[in-house]
Amino acid sequence: MSAAGPSEGFPTELVREDLRGFAGYSSARTSAPGVPARIWLNANESGDPSAADPGGASRRYPDPQPAELVEAFADLWAVTPDRVVVGRGSDELIELLVRALCRPGGDGIVICSPTFGMYEVSARLHGVPVTDVPQLDDGLTWRVDTAAVARAAREKGARVVFVSSPGNPTANVVPLREIASLADELADQAVVVVDEAYGEYAEQRSAVTLLEEHPTLVVLRTLSKAHGLAGARVGIALAHPELATVLRRVQAPYPVPVPVARLALAALTPEALAATRERVNATLRRRDHLCHRLRHLDGVRAVYDSEANFLLVRHDDPDALLRTLASAGIVVRDVRHHPGLADAVRITIGTDDEMTALDTALGEIDR
Ligand SMILES: *Cc1c(COP(=O)(O)O)cnc(C)c1O
Repeated sequence: MSAAGPSEGFPTELVREDLRGFAGYSSARTSAPGVPARIWLNANESGDPSAADPGGASRRYPDPQPAELVEAFADLWAVTPDRVVVGRGSDELIELLVRALCRPGGDGIVICSPTFGMYEVSARLHGVPVTDVPQLDDGLTWRVDTAAVARAAREKGARVVFVSSPGNPTANVVPLREIASLADELADQAVVVVDEAYGEYAEQRSAVTLLEEHPTLVVLRTLSKAHGLAGARVGIALAHPELATVLRRVQAPYPVPVPVARLALAALTPEALAATRERVNATLRRRDHLCHRLRHLDGVRAVYDSEANFLLVRHDDPDALLRTLASAGIVVRDVRHHPGLADAVRITIGTDDEMTALDTALGEIDR
């Protein structure tokens, strides 16, 4: 490793030309930085608290990027705070990346199906073409063909490559070495986004460790999965400071409501993080148990290796499987609309009790 550090620049040409000088919305909180103010009469907020919020904690517009929360994420990932962008779930960050880097009606993104649906949705809504480089399937694990991704991105002039690692619904990781070389190969043309929504469940370390050396790499993380806060809507992008600045500028105002910031901070205390690790370990044990059970179940064609908190299962009669589970009140994800998954369902690993109920319901099929 070289000691290149933060002097490595982000190639500004990757940002949409018409947005390079764009300052974004100047909010009540950002327009008066550093003023030692005592009395705030600049944002038309109520002078008195709501009956719903007697302490007045939510009386004022929030800091667009709550400093304490940004610090907490920066500490967690051992990056400088200027690399952190907090958003309304990683879903918003996906959208911001498309918005900031792709010209509507032009450019484009690359995805690797079967994959998370939001990449394509964001591109569609933004009028940006999507190129799919399907993953390779050997019946046990999926593999992102990073060489083919690089070729396709070049050919199509794509600006963003989205890789979900661990993948949803494929549950596989992309080796860091391949992510690094993909970013290097496309460095003058496209940003490579590694979506680590399930990173807490994976054995491989985070691609965050590659950020310093690869300025065009972006890592997405979320509090929605292992951290148990899907309802709070908090995700982050970890990116080169210059790209992070652009993402904040194209973001709609006040992405982090006051109660949400409080919840997120509480999830990042050492105690909460330790509890999250415990829950993750328990989930992995239940996952491996269920995996074993499914592989011995009649009608199951494949259970893919998983680095996440779910299993992707191919079945001879997915309709019967879904029906049997539904009659036990159990809902799993029908993923048959994904290319290459016409016989598959995705099963999330739940609590012990939920897994026991699933086990019982699967016994009904066995009969
Ligand atoms: C669930 C999921 C997300 C969504 O994360 P939010 O932070 O809840 O928006 C992002 N990416 C992948 C691959 C997911 O499976």
